Amino acid sequence: MHTEFILAAAKNIQQCILANESTLESLDREIGDGDHYINMKRGANTIVELEAELTPLKPDEALNKIGMKLLSTIGGASGPLLASFFMSMAKVLKENGGDSHAKIAAAFSAGVQAIIQRGKANIGEKTMLDVLIPVAQQFEILATQTSDVNLISKSLIRTAEQGMLSTKDLIATKGRAAGLGERAIGHIDPGAKSCQLMIESVCKLVLEK
Ligand code: ADP
Ligand code: MG
Repeated sequence: MHTEFILAAAKNIQQCILANESTLESLDREIGDGDHYINMKRGANTIVELEAELTPLKPDEALNKIGMKLLSTIGGASGPLLASFFMSMAKVLKENGGDSHAKIAAAFSAGVQAIIQRGKANIGEKTMLDVLIPVAQQFEILATQTSDVNLISKSLIRTAEQGMLSTKDLIATKGRAAGLGERAIGHIDPGAKSCQLMIESVCKLVLEK
């Protein structure tokens, strides 16, 4: 993994978040408080504006800085969770390096584990983890089976989409939507949608290369 790729991914994510304003806003208005789009936009803009500072850094240093910055810019529940993802991913990359798909997959999984620990949630609770956990698992499996990045990317796009859609029929047991009980059924979780969009953006960047 290279810092140049991280910067390009940040720009793709920013464009994708901006292009999905009405989707993200209405999802959080339906089962949350309506601020998820604003939170994600603020985070994405801040990271893209950091380009000059991030460019000279090693990938793990850049991801750590991204995490620290997100902690202070994205509000809400999602801010500290996404911040811990990037900081934990950075820690594992620093320790093990990121010169193979397996190492990148392991770092991604460590980031997801940090979200699980910080948010005390797991799969099936109608959160971003319904996207992130299956993607992390699939990424680790594929990394041992193939070195075909296009195949990995296409598969992870599908896994993220399935995970995002799976939140529709769930009752929320974590986050704001937990207070809604059965009324949350029929609505996709906003954090799951934004994570699916971010994963799709990064995978599409890989596919374009
Ligand atoms: P807030 O809920 O504080 O308004 P956001 O709207 O930015 O914050 O983010 C809401 C999203 O955060 C939810 O859709 C869900 O995916 C995610 N989320 C909330 N609580 C948790 C948790 N404990 N673990 C994992 N994800 C969570
Ligand atoms: Mg919200």
